[in-house]
Amino acid sequence: MKTKKIFVAGHRGLVGSATLRVLAGRADYEVLTRTHAELDLEDRSATRAFFLEHRPDHVVMCAAKVGGILANASYPVDFLHNNLRIQLNVFDAAHESGIDRMIFLGSSCIYPRDCPQPIKEEYLLTGPLEATNRPYALAKIAGVESCWSFNRQYGTHYVAMMPTNMYGPGDNYHPENSHVLPALIRRFHEAKRKAEPSVVVWGSGKPRREFMYSSDLGDAILFLLDMPDERFAALTHPDSTPLINVGVGEDVSIQEVAELVKATVGYQGELKLDATKPDGTPRKLMDVSRLAALGWKAKTPLDVGLKQAYEDFVHHHG
Ligand code: GDP
Repeated sequence: MKTKKIFVAGHRGLVGSATLRVLAGRADYEVLTRTHAELDLEDRSATRAFFLEHRPDHVVMCAAKVGGILANASYPVDFLHNNLRIQLNVFDAAHESGIDRMIFLGSSCIYPRDCPQPIKEEYLLTGPLEATNRPYALAKIAGVESCWSFNRQYGTHYVAMMPTNMYGPGDNYHPENSHVLPALIRRFHEAKRKAEPSVVVWGSGKPRREFMYSSDLGDAILFLLDMPDERFAALTHPDSTPLINVGVGEDVSIQEVAELVKATVGYQGELKLDATKPDGTPRKLMDVSRLAALGWKAKTPLDVGLKQAYEDFVHHHG
């Protein structure tokens, strides 16, 4: 079998590193990576030169500026403009160099704030977005439209995969700018170490979120890359949005997930809700039936994934 050259853009992030883990040991893929210092994807001519020199067959596009609710509120221009620049450069260079398949990663926040649950792919652009991450969401919606536009105009095979909230090895554990799970892992771990009497959880504890272990997303990406050409081409037919949700199909409340992190870390103190912090979207649960119909399902239960994520945190940051 011919070896396929695959460029994983953003390989040091949560999704990119999970993709590398699943690609490791696959002799039929030659994996290309570049650190931010080696290749700045915001640099249009450097990005173009890289693609024309290496001419990958496939691109897994997970390079993006990402962050939690507070980071999005503090740096809206970065979340909109940096992401748009990276996407324009990568899409144009990928097309010019003739790549065969692209998997563009985004997130569930592209969907309207108040759309029916679970969220189906067809709800895209049917209502107003959640204001706390609108700049990031709009950049990612532009990416979905780029996939579709390239497929329509040039007959390319670009798919947009929208994962639910992710967690796992190599996550961003910044105390304020990270997402809820890594933030809580750090906070409960430090409170345990310092024997603090209580831990603060932002918001009302009532919002519901779905959490997927990053290795499961890596597995879903590989599932698409391994598809025979005619099946992959059907996903990118110009008449339908090349949009696919990835998730576990179940959600939990922030209060419940906080209790679960508390138990995983083994913290004995109290959990306190801080209602002055924003709740964000009330509920976010993906409808994952499109991917299920193609034959893929998430495998890792939340308690199992959390244990592994916590071990990784202790190993690197404990
Ligand atoms: P979102 O899914 O885009 O809203 O992003 P987050 O992961 O940042 O937040 C999810 C929910 O968890 C929101 O309701 C937050 O208020 C809540 N939350 C509770 N504690 C924390 C925390 O320490 N950090 C973050 N980022 N969110 C928290």
